[in-house]
Amino acid sequence: METLVVDHPLVAHKLTVLRDVGTDSPTFRRLADELVTLLAYEATRHVRVTEWSVQTPVALAKGVRLAQPCPLVVPILRAGLGMLEGMTRLLPTAEVGFLGMIRNESTLQAETYATRLPDDLSGRQVYVVDPMLATGGTLTAAIQFLFDRGADDVTALCLLAAPEGIAYMDQAFNGSGKPIRLVTAALDERLNEHGYIVPGLGDAGDRLYGVV
Ligand code: URA
Repeated sequence: METLVVDHPLVAHKLTVLRDVGTDSPTFRRLADELVTLLAYEATRHVRVTEWSVQTPVALAKGVRLAQPCPLVVPILRAGLGMLEGMTRLLPTAEVGFLGMIRNESTLQAETYATRLPDDLSGRQVYVVDPMLATGGTLTAAIQFLFDRGADDVTALCLLAAPEGIAYMDQAFNGSGKPIRLVTAALDERLNEHGYIVPGLGDAGDRLYGVV
């Protein structure tokens, strides 16, 4: 897996405020949205395009446009929803599929509870959004699900990642032969005994949407 930690002062600034326990949900949502758009700029560096020319008022200009089939953005419910708009702002013609996964807090294993995705993802570039790459169980299960439906190129966007999660994914997809990229705003120190990222930002879903 190719991992990119986006090194940019605006990303670092927004992430610092996001981590702050005193940041309220409306501010957290707005900052997460802004951060995703900055991450999306890097994450879409390999988005497929085809050559396309347009007539300017002066002459013919050679350019590009997004290739077909269009990219698919997949937020992992529920916390991934907080990253959806930031992503589609940059990729407005992308389609959106949904994958509901929850971490069983005793086993720390990912369980799927909802799917709304095209049956056939052959030839699709997929952008999975989930704020926290902690143990890696959820993201690995999600990406495997997408590969099983034929996706051949997956980029994951996470606000924060833990080394344990990256190692888990590296091992899970070792030898899969499919390109997987991870784009994150920071690589934190470790996981604690409850599977939370340290120093992290707490429970991303709760901070976005409250404890429900
Ligand atoms: N999920 C979260 O929301 N936060 C963590 O720190 C780890 C997993």
